[in-house]
Amino acid sequence: MAMTKRLYIETVGCQMNVLDSEMVVADLKKRGYELARDLDAADVILFNTCSVREQAENKTYSALGRLRSFKKQHPEKIIGVMGCMAQKDQQLVFSRAPYVDLVVGPGQLARIPDLLDDVARGKGPQMAVSLGRKDGPIADIKRSHETFDPLRDPTMRPTPFQAYLRIQIGCDKFCTYCIVPMTRGPEQGRSPEQILAEARVLADQGCKEITLIGQTVNSYKHTNGGKTTRLSDLLYALHEIDGLQRLKFVTNYPKDMTDDLLQAVRDLPKCSPYLHVPVQSGSNEILARMKRGYTVEEYRETLSRIRGTIPAAAVTSDFIVGFCGETEEDFQKTYDLVGESRFKNSFIFKYSERPGTKGAELYADDVPFEVKNRRNNELLELQNRISEQGNQAFLGARVEVLVEGASDRAKRRDEDQGEIVQLVGRTPCDRIVVFDGNPRLIGQLLPVAVYDVAAHTLFAAVVTEHILSVGQARAPVG
Ligand code: SAM
Ligand code: SF4
Repeated sequence: MAMTKRLYIETVGCQMNVLDSEMVVADLKKRGYELARDLDAADVILFNTCSVREQAENKTYSALGRLRSFKKQHPEKIIGVMGCMAQKDQQLVFSRAPYVDLVVGPGQLARIPDLLDDVARGKGPQMAVSLGRKDGPIADIKRSHETFDPLRDPTMRPTPFQAYLRIQIGCDKFCTYCIVPMTRGPEQGRSPEQILAEARVLADQGCKEITLIGQTVNSYKHTNGGKTTRLSDLLYALHEIDGLQRLKFVTNYPKDMTDDLLQAVRDLPKCSPYLHVPVQSGSNEILARMKRGYTVEEYRETLSRIRGTIPAAAVTSDFIVGFCGETEEDFQKTYDLVGESRFKNSFIFKYSERPGTKGAELYADDVPFEVKNRRNNELLELQNRISEQGNQAFLGARVEVLVEGASDRAKRRDEDQGEIVQLVGRTPCDRIVVFDGNPRLIGQLLPVAVYDVAAHTLFAAVVTEHILSVGQARAPVG
């Protein structure tokens, strides 16, 4: 007779990994697994890993190291490593942590339930990874990086009313610093039929906000019978789905920020005017060495086209500081670009050399750590000032938030309104808003009035008419 098994899963990395974990858990639940709160209660322990920077890998290997004696005490527990580090390191995971039972790359996640059964049956350590970028005909390589999108299970998401929807896997851009094209394989757009069917399932489950994800989501293309579907076409089709109220998409590749896409975002009320368009550097020399495929001048032109079409657009960026050969002059150009671009916020990373990339092969990682650190701090400080200035424009404004949940702040009781907690929501342009309200507001879209701002947060109060109508509606319950 089948016994319930308990699964503990730890996820690091990007939205793709968050979604992959959701899918793996949903798949294993169908096979009778339940989620365990900690290692001690688990029969199976999975690490969903990231390889984008060395630090992420070090953290995973440290976590595995801490399990060495645990596994000795509990040899029956199965330990698995999945995700990008599994694909990149393959056998090396077993060499560094010989008590690991399972290594599964992101293109092979559908095999996890069967492989766990094999391990449990005593077949020994199991590994399933995709083909490398030069390991055979392109069709075989693509097949070995199949998307893994089983039926969605709302209980597996942090909030049932928000979901990621994968529209593209892999990446063909080969930026010289980046490991993703190797770990996630060739770029492949999912078919619009699959995407729309999944979006309808999500809407039927009560999902109000969908974020479409892909490494270069705006390069999305799918051709069938001579007809090519682009991201803008998808947005028009998704916009028709009842129940869905917000559509977002990440991450954009600057060169593929086409006018049809910008016009779709402008014209479709459900599309959030939030665009993550990472530039990485403000120096043409560095951009060329990164093989990003555009110049700073071209990026500026893209930015002005975005703002010309969608004046209220909140644009965000990523930067890598201390890339190979980056001089003070190069860094100053990046600093100046941040100064002029008025990004809502930026994610700033210190360059981390990744074995297996062209960058590691061609260029020396020659910027000292202290210099990377200083540049990181200087850029962050500038961006924070700009973010706060950008938020000032919201003072006194009424914004619509999708209430995501309670903040960590302590709960308090209000005599008239019952339980009141500090809630967190997001505006359509992805700004984080905190405000006091009843937990029953979680999952709703509602207007709030902003009375204070900081670099990364708007502070607001629920608009009174809304409190009244919500209060009236819930009176019989409370
Ligand atoms: N596909 C997305 C893109 O093109 O922007 C995101 C890819 S990556 C997971 C997210 C960010 O990590 C990149 O935008 C880049 O800034 C940063 N990154 C990638 N490789 C890196 C490296 N070797 N060292 C430091 N940061 C890196
Ligand atoms: Fe990496 Fe560049 Fe592809 Fe983004 S576009 S995933 S940074 S190779």
